[in-house]
Amino acid sequence: MAKRARLVAGNWKMHGSRAANEALLAAVIAGVRELADVECVVCPPFPYLSQTAGLLAGSRVAWGAQNVSEYASGAYTGEVSAAMLLEFGCRYAIVGHSERRASFGETDAQVAAKFAAACRAGLVPILCVGESLTEREAGRTEDVIGRQLDAVLDASGPASLAQAVLAYEPVWAIGTGRNASPEQAQQVHAFLRARVALREGSVAARLRILYGGSVKAANAAALFAMPDVDGGLIGGASLVADDFVTICGAARSNP
Ligand code: PEP
Repeated sequence: MAKRARLVAGNWKMHGSRAANEALLAAVIAGVRELADVECVVCPPFPYLSQTAGLLAGSRVAWGAQNVSEYASGAYTGEVSAAMLLEFGCRYAIVGHSERRASFGETDAQVAAKFAAACRAGLVPILCVGESLTEREAGRTEDVIGRQLDAVLDASGPASLAQAVLAYEPVWAIGTGRNASPEQAQQVHAFLRARVALREGSVAARLRILYGGSVKAANAAALFAMPDVDGGLIGGASLVADDFVTICGAARSNP
């Protein structure tokens, strides 16, 4: 099996302040300094990206955006393009987070367009897919996440996933304190990898698939021990430096 570098990304959502970010980033930078085999990423709200870029300079922590426009430029008030992000040193962009799909009406087609825009600019999209509780209970998990993934595969082709990261984020696990069990996560991650393999086996083997949804310091190691779980996308726990550092540590290949 291809060896995939572990990655842990923190999604700060709409949290932060200049002072709080400074303290959090200083602690994260110090805490992950020795974790050579784990890529650590933070995704603050847009106004703090420049502050974040400055504070992270010279560290081994990368940063990303929580969203990106599907448009390159123009009359799109309130939007931020991939090229603008790149100009500030951004490396990652979360696309298709379930909160954007549910609260801002982002469709599969729009998510696919955002993914394509991020790729075109040279960013690494972190593509989120996940089912709601109702969908899981109706046995529709694979239909839903398969559809979300196929929208991107159809629009950008399987090779585009070679420069991307996939995140399985069951909606029922996000911010609820109820994480998927390691076995549930593994089952879905294996499904996603197999789905990509149907189009391009070598891309699937190298694709990093993160798990997100109530990952905490206490459950991260068990989730990351699963063979198709290559790290995590972390919400609430990424705002607590000690917890985020512990979670990054749990992602080491040989802890
Ligand atoms: C998220 O926001 O992507 C997330 C996974 O949140 P939490 O870790 O708080 O469930």
